[in-house]
Formats: sequence, C-alpha cells, structure tokens
Amino acid sequence: MRSLTLKLILAFLAVGLIGTAFIALFTWTGTEREFGQLEFDRWQSGFVDQLTDYYAVNESWTGIEEVFPMMGLGSGPKAHWGPRMGSPVLLLDDSGKVLIPGQGFEVGDQVSPQTAKMAIPIEVDGKEVGRVIAGRDALLVSPAGEAFLSRVNRVLILGTVGGAIVALLLGIILARTFTGPLRELTTATRAVAAGDFEQQVPIRSRDEIGELTEAFNQMNANLVRARDLRRQMTADIAHELRTPLSVILSHTEAIKDGIFEASEETFQIIHDETIRLSTMVEDLRTLSLAETGELSITPRKVRPQELLKQTVSAHSPRAQQKKIELKLLPTEDLPEIEMDPDRMAQVFGNLMDNALRYTPPGGSITLSAIRSTGGVELCVKDDGPGIEPEELAHIFDRFYRVDKSRQRDEGGSGLGLAIAKSIVEQHQGQIRAESIPGDGVMFTLEFPSA
Ligand code: ADP
Repeated sequence: MRSLTLKLILAFLAVGLIGTAFIALFTWTGTEREFGQLEFDRWQSGFVDQLTDYYAVNESWTGIEEVFPMMGLGSGPKAHWGPRMGSPVLLLDDSGKVLIPGQGFEVGDQVSPQTAKMAIPIEVDGKEVGRVIAGRDALLVSPAGEAFLSRVNRVLILGTVGGAIVALLLGIILARTFTGPLRELTTATRAVAAGDFEQQVPIRSRDEIGELTEAFNQMNANLVRARDLRRQMTADIAHELRTPLSVILSHTEAIKDGIFEASEETFQIIHDETIRLSTMVEDLRTLSLAETGELSITPRKVRPQELLKQTVSAHSPRAQQKKIELKLLPTEDLPEIEMDPDRMAQVFGNLMDNALRYTPPGGSITLSAIRSTGGVELCVKDDGPGIEPEELAHIFDRFYRVDKSRQRDEGGSGLGLAIAKSIVEQHQGQIRAESIPGDGVMFTLEFPSA
C-alpha cells in the first residue's frame, strides 16, 4: 500500500466500523436480554396469578398436576408460552414439599429452606399456601417479541453501515486535508534536490505538518544564504588572488622578454607577492576551518592577565620600532577562561597587527581586562584614526578593507578580523568593535568564565 491518503482513509474506516460494530453488538445483546427479562416478568406474574386462583377455588393443591401443564398458556400469539417439556418450573406446598417436579427435584422431595427462599410465594387471603420457582427456560419469546427484536436488529445493522459510510466520507476529506501539505512539501523538496533552492511552501496549519513546513522553509532560506555566501566567497577569493598573481606574472614576463632586469629589486617584488599569496591561502584555510567549527582547539584554563601580559611582550619589539607605547592596565583578580592559548594568540596577533598599523608614532595601545556579567571582557584600544560607523558594521566581513589602496601597500588581506571573530565564537565568546572617529578603535572580546 503506497499512498498515505489510502492508509488514512482505511484507518478512519476501520475505526468507524469497529466503533459502530461494538456499539451495535452491545446494544443488541443488551436489548435481547432486557426484553427477554421483561417478557418473563410479565409471564411469571400471570402464571403466579393462575396458581393463586386455582388454590383459592379448590382450597388445596389437589389435582394441580393435571392442570399444571395447561397453566401459563394463553390464547392467540401467546399460545406457546409456558413451561416446556422437562420444565424448569417447580411448585412447592406451604411446607416446602415438591408438588410439581422440576429443576432436578422429584414429587415429595423436601426442598431446603435456602432453595425455598428463592421461590416466589403464592398467597391466598394473606396466607402463604405454596411457592413456585420458574427458570428463564420456562419461557419462549412471543412472535411479537421476536418481530420487535428483529426490527431492533435491522436498525442496528443500518446504523453500523451508516456509521461506516460516514467514517469513509470523513476519512476521505480528512486524509486529503492531511496529505495535501505533504504533497506540496514533496514537490518543493524535489525542486530543491534538482537545485532550485528558492522554494517556500505556504504554512497552512499550526500542527506538526505546519512545523515541518516552517522547518523546510527555514532550511531553504539557509541553503540560499549558504549558496550566496559560497558564490560571494569564490568571487572574493578569485579577485584577491588575481592581484598578487598578476604582479608576479607581469614581472616574470618582463624579465623573460628582457624588459626588466633580473635585479634583486624585481625578485624582491616577486618574493613579497608570493609571501602575500601564501599568507592569504593559509588565512583562507584557517578561516574556512574556523567557520565550519573544524579548527582544532585544545582548551585549557588561562588567566586573563597572563594572556594580556604575553600579548604585550610578544608585540613590544615592533611597538618600540614604531615608537608606540603598549599599556597594560592593572586588573582585579579575574576568573580563569577556558581557551586554546595558541589560537587566542592568533586572535590578539591580528588585533595588535591592526592597532600597530593604524596607531601613529608617539601614540599608545592599551590592553585591559574586566569582569563582565557572565565572565571576562578583554579590550584592545588604539590611538589610530578610528573607523566610521558605516564601515564599523563590515570590518568583520572577510576581505573587507576600509581603505583599499592603502591597505594593499601595507599587506592586509582583509581576513584578520573575520578569522578573529570565528575563533572567538568557537570559544563561545563574542567580539565587538567600538570607535569614535579620530579617537581610535576599541575591540572587546567577551568570554564566559571557566
Ligand atoms: P586586514 O588584514 O586588512 O587588516 P582585517 O580583517 O584585520 O583585515 O581588518 C579589516 C579592516 O578593518 C581593515 O582593512 C581596516 O580598514 C579596518 N581596521 C581594523 N582594525 C583597525 C584599527 N585598529 N583601526 C582602524 N581600522 C581598522
């Protein structure tokens, strides 16, 4: 069975059919039993009346055995009422002795008081003259009763069939309602599989299928974003690699054609561009690993002060060269942070590279650490020109450079901050930049405490 619609329809039909069949069965057996009891009660009271009349007329039970088989029989349709052969009817006299045999007792047997208690008393002028026990077998249902029961039966069968038809119709409608959105999702999924990612399926309900549709739409939106990002990245990489490659190519060609001399200066240019290319390739590799969360990280507990101290000592030779002062603000005792010190050195290396590049001689770079709500904040603040607010929003994008021409001379690839952001985020941290143009940039890294 392949179609979910068919399965649902059959399920509804089965439930409807089983439900109505059970109700019909219980109603039928209940009606038959209760109706039989009603007929029996009516017959029994008539039978007891006849016995009472007999005793009242004869003033004794003498001769009862002759008329007894005729008792309980009426005329017309009731003609076959009454005790059958081997009758389960038992008549006792006032002392509990058996007058009419039945139910395993013979004439003259003395019945125990317990058995006698179950019998119906026959009273004449307020005095008990005997007792009678009539089993249900004593009665055959009348033809009128049988007709009534068969009418009830017919109604119940009709009800069951009607219930099944309603269940079937409802099943068809409901199954179509349930499977409609699934069919839409299947069509859309096939389109995505064929490469058409711009698929959005309308959400028609707030149930599980609605949730599935919402998740599907979300997945597609993410796929579209990832595809655009990949396209953009490929274009960016091609664009970035082209410049150093064309410099290398033009220089080697010029040397080959004898236009340039194979001097140390030309080789230096080729060498510099090759270094730039290889740095860029390495940066791209790190970035792609960090962005997919595959960058290997060996975390250990690090004291924030220690990290800043190491950053200062690693960069002080270059700072001294450029006559820039590195300041490390005193910190209170801070909680330790769980991080990979080598990766973090890379992050601070990128931040310090930028700060040293933009801070003019005589300026200073300040490093500090403070306690934040959930952990620790580490700051690097420089004295450079700062960044305009509209540029600030993009500096963590890969290949983004504020001043393209100047940056190229100074060797920035535009990947440093993107790498820093990915590494920080892989440490469950956050990085942000604030700047007042003319007053430098402050990078803040926030990490949860270990
Ligand atoms: P790059 O390799 O070019 O430095 P980054 O990703 O590190 O790339 O930085 C992106 C851009 O952000 C830089 O090109 C620069 O324009 C700007 N920038 C980063 N740090 C600073 C800073 N301290 N002062 C001013 N501008 C900055």
